[in-house]
Amino acid sequence: MLEKRLQRLQELATAKPALNEVCRFYTCLYRLFDNAVPFLQVEVDDEMAEPRQKQGFPLLSGDMLTFDPAAAQIFFAALLQVMHEHGQQGQDELQALQTALQAGNLNLTELLRAVFERNREPISQAAEATGAQPALLEYCLTTALGAALQRCRAEGLKTQVQNWDQGYCPLCGGLPAIAELSGEEGQKRLQCSLCNSNWSFHRLTCTHCGNSDHDSLAYFTAEGEPGCRVDICRKCSGYLKVVDSRERGEGLPLEIEDVATLHLDLLAAKEGFSRGKKETPGA
Ligand SMILES: [Zn+2]
Ligand SMILES: [Zn+2]
Repeated sequence: MLEKRLQRLQELATAKPALNEVCRFYTCLYRLFDNAVPFLQVEVDDEMAEPRQKQGFPLLSGDMLTFDPAAAQIFFAALLQVMHEHGQQGQDELQALQTALQAGNLNLTELLRAVFERNREPISQAAEATGAQPALLEYCLTTALGAALQRCRAEGLKTQVQNWDQGYCPLCGGLPAIAELSGEEGQKRLQCSLCNSNWSFHRLTCTHCGNSDHDSLAYFTAEGEPGCRVDICRKCSGYLKVVDSRERGEGLPLEIEDVATLHLDLLAAKEGFSRGKKETPGA
């Protein structure tokens, strides 16, 4: 997985020099993911998993997650350092978070669980206490949780149901970051923004609100970005980027295609569309 990601980032930096710095950041980030000592353990009750998922609940719920505080702290410190070195926004705030972390003033176990459960309150409070923007702290926590969940998947954690037709992840309940069309029929698969699981989904249905009325669904493309479009829904103002692997190449790591097409997110936001903030059951 690491090799594939790094290779694609390198190709991208060569093809789009404007993304050089971003690619360097993600290169360090994925190296960090790869080197990290695992800090999340999940305990799934196999008997309960399938019936729960058949009711539309993701496999995981917050009470199944156990974080190792010491290993999480080491990872989080390294993550803040990578962000600091790559000139990500809010240098002073990153420093403030690092100081709070080292002083034992960031309860990562509680905060990571809050991110998983989409409970913003503890995150806002912790951000306020350290003087960082809640959005920055949430980004760091989400990145750390994503790394941990991806590690669990690499070690064999997987969904217990095959026919999942929800717009959120069958494994962790996360929202899709991007979708792929593949195969002769152009089957649509969504990829989770958090754990990178992917699952097939109706081609002409909004992932955010389930709208399938063709009159209010549309898409746009951008010049110089072949094999990529943005599906939009006028009913809920949600959007989703879609890459066509028949044009762009098979087997690309979609999380990198997401980075490669950041300008499409800007275009979508400018038109008033968002990635959606749908609440998911059981998460
Ligand atoms: Zn997921
Ligand atoms: Zn919609």
